[in-house]
Amino acid sequence: MRQKLLKPNWEPGLSIPHLPIERLLSIGIKALVLDVDGTLITRHEIILHNSVINWVKDAQKDFSLHLLSNNPSKKRIESIAKQLNINFTYRAAKPTKGALRKVQHNLQLDPRQIAILGDRIFTDVLVGNRLGLYTVLIWPLGPSGEPCKRNTTQLLEHRIARLLGTSTS
Ligand SMILES: [Mg+2]
Repeated sequence: MRQKLLKPNWEPGLSIPHLPIERLLSIGIKALVLDVDGTLITRHEIILHNSVINWVKDAQKDFSLHLLSNNPSKKRIESIAKQLNINFTYRAAKPTKGALRKVQHNLQLDPRQIAILGDRIFTDVLVGNRLGLYTVLIWPLGPSGEPCKRNTTQLLEHRIARLLGTSTS
């Protein structure tokens, strides 16, 4: 595996509700592909927090949005997509490229005009880098909808990425 594939283009140290979308606009991003579990909502919740809904509403003014989840439950991902009124893909099998490539094709944009935002290096960042998208590794949300600092899964992924020889932080 080429080591740079595990390095996000941007690691802001923030969760979605605090992520400044101006930065993405300023570098020419036109569409956002969003991971769901951990990124927009914890795995144990079904109703999005207002902070997330408000951020997405703001983002919708400037970007095309698409949810791309590895979760096998169509019911769960569809219900979250409906709360945001955006299109979705479930069972995406990240880091394999098929589902994301289809999203990119439908958006009809250059890969560098699309950002993928997620909380996992070995799925979200890896698939985005494989297709040449702009990759953003965000901090997962806590159970109350508050930003949760880098969690144990992300810390472990960073350690593995470092062992593989890439410095992601
Ligand atoms: Mg996730």
